[in-house]
Amino acid sequence: MIVRKTPAQIERMRAANALVAQVLSELRRRVAPGVSTLELDTVAERQVRAAGAVPAFKGYHGYPATLCASVNEAVVHGIPSPAPLVDGDIVSLDMGAVLGGYYGDSAITVPVGGVPARVSELLRVTREALERGIAQVRVGGHVSDIGHHVQRHVEAHGFSVVREFVGNGIGVALHEEPQIPNYGDPGQGPRLETGMVLAIEPMVTLGRPAVKVLGDGWTAVTQDGSLAAHFEHTVAITEGGPEVLTRAAAEAEARPASVH
Ligand code: MG
Repeated sequence: MIVRKTPAQIERMRAANALVAQVLSELRRRVAPGVSTLELDTVAERQVRAAGAVPAFKGYHGYPATLCASVNEAVVHGIPSPAPLVDGDIVSLDMGAVLGGYYGDSAITVPVGGVPARVSELLRVTREALERGIAQVRVGGHVSDIGHHVQRHVEAHGFSVVREFVGNGIGVALHEEPQIPNYGDPGQGPRLETGMVLAIEPMVTLGRPAVKVLGDGWTAVTQDGSLAAHFEHTVAITEGGPEVLTRAAAEAEARPASVH
């Protein structure tokens, strides 16, 4: 069942998701060669708790950390590690928080120092694919329109969409219905309606799309060892239209003002 949120509930989700966006912005600034993802995790947990929120992933099915930090060929669910990041790495930072009973969730992939042009392109195209998907979030459309447009953009640039993991509804639980694959035909499945809140999260690889989970039971890596990127936003369909709840302040300022 798809739970549609009231305006009051969406207001509470704004707060949870704004916190997630703010912490991810801070983490992005801290990513550098020599910094470990465990240090980033410590910062993330401290900031989440200082805001009166609770890390959403820590303890989820036994997951041990606040952040998922997935380096290079890791796609999602990488466990923070004391190993220092190295110039040329890419690191995906995925974080959820619960504030006032409502969940926020967002992810970014950040280059560590300098990366080759094709790797920059992987990050740019994954971010653009997320925006293409978000542009399909409108009342009367279908959930599958989102993934269709994500896939089209990704494959037009010669990259691959991961199939094993999908986006989802979000609210009083981290994962609600509907599932949101990042591929497939448009015009299928549930309709998009006011009150839906969706975590949209393309995962894209430089090589083949297949992934496998490592022996730690969490870290999903590409089977062919190719690099992977992951960007995620939580988007609400409010009475005033779609609203990205995890747009960071700096990012919002850089965009043209929307007309209401
Ligand atoms: Mg996430």
